[in-house]
Amino acid sequence: MRAFGLAATIVVSSATATAFAPAGLAAQTTALVGGTLIDGFGAPPIRNSVVLIEGQRIQRVGRVGEVAVPAGATVISTEGMTVLPGLWDMHVHLMIVGHADYAHWDSTYPAQFESVIMPAAACQLLMAGVTSARDLGGPLEASLRVRDRVNQGEIPGPTLYVSGPFIQHEPYPGTELFRWGVTGERDAREKVRRLAEAGVNVIKLIDQDQMTMEEVRAVVDEAHRRRLPVIAHAHRPEEIRRALDAGVDGVEHTGLQTAPEYPADVMAAVRDRTAQGNRGPFFWTPTISPLYNYDYLRDNPEWLDDPSWHLGLPDDIIADIRQSLAHWDQLPYYQMMPQRRPTLARKFQQLKESGAILLIGTDSGVPGNFHSQSTWQELDVWVNVFGYPAMEAIRAATYWPAVAMGVSNDVGTVSEGKYADLIAVRGDPLRHISVLRDVDLVIKRGRRYR
Ligand SMILES: [Zn+2]
Repeated sequence: MRAFGLAATIVVSSATATAFAPAGLAAQTTALVGGTLIDGFGAPPIRNSVVLIEGQRIQRVGRVGEVAVPAGATVISTEGMTVLPGLWDMHVHLMIVGHADYAHWDSTYPAQFESVIMPAAACQLLMAGVTSARDLGGPLEASLRVRDRVNQGEIPGPTLYVSGPFIQHEPYPGTELFRWGVTGERDAREKVRRLAEAGVNVIKLIDQDQMTMEEVRAVVDEAHRRRLPVIAHAHRPEEIRRALDAGVDGVEHTGLQTAPEYPADVMAAVRDRTAQGNRGPFFWTPTISPLYNYDYLRDNPEWLDDPSWHLGLPDDIIADIRQSLAHWDQLPYYQMMPQRRPTLARKFQQLKESGAILLIGTDSGVPGNFHSQSTWQELDVWVNVFGYPAMEAIRAATYWPAVAMGVSNDVGTVSEGKYADLIAVRGDPLRHISVLRDVDLVIKRGRRYR
């Protein structure tokens, strides 16, 4: 626990005390009683709900009066609260935690990625109610070891699904640790084979418009032969065309810089793909909130001082991140945002109409976009800016990600027999989605972390 700092240690030890009360058979049972339940399937919420948790799993789901709470169960009142499945964030970067200067970060901190930074990022996500996350692009061995330590319950964090290194034409100088270039079809298959045999959960393609089409197809084919999904960056039209052409399972980001909308042929290709019922859903993770919110944050940088993103980080790294954000208005990363922002509503509308299943993902870790705050902000932008129905936005952060990762039998909804990944918040996220900013209760695999 040394690497986590005091706050995380306190959280975990108090969790042990509340969720695992000693003595008696029923001590294994925890009952969440009284709150309104959004189960993740999209039906109207269940009032006066009871959720019984036994060990790591949900045992019963029902209403007060219908489901008896066993004598001796640990009862947690959820009165006045909404209970919902633990959130997913489908696009996080654990190896970065908001610093503005990637070249500095990548040359200064790799020795601390595995021991300090990735665990801190994971802990911040969990405390924000994110009980599952997909980490896209990181050093292979560190990603796998952090994933396994979290998933075995050794350190706090969301259940992790990791890609390891990006697959692309050529790594940018100084990024070879987490970007693997491919030269030729055979090399593309070989790189995917190495990732698959190491045990990654997903393959991440980027800059596929700089690869040959044979290489792109080889990556996707080899991954699918090994039952790994492939997701691709969608910054440029040709990246999206190639991704679709090669048969990837989903794409990421709301791209095309300042272009006013996606080209008609690209959207037609997405509709073609989603119309093929035998192929399952096509997923799109817009990661739109860091783009949309930049102007606001440039003019209102006070929130950068919110200490939630310090959790698990040592003082010297916190200080380094703070100074990197001192001139928030001048960051090269965001200079195009004022021109991009007016195009986002149209692009998001196109994505909604494309037939793709949209997923909540946030690019958390990119400059000033902290793991502790990113997920609720993405939900907020979808619902409050672009008019996405709140229930569907919640499903894009619960049910659908579990489907996308092939684990919907175990997580993604509050259902009997599934893992007890649950959160509770005061108030009603269907009316005020931003109540998800302050998650009161976080349970992952039956264990209470908050
Ligand atoms: Zn990203």
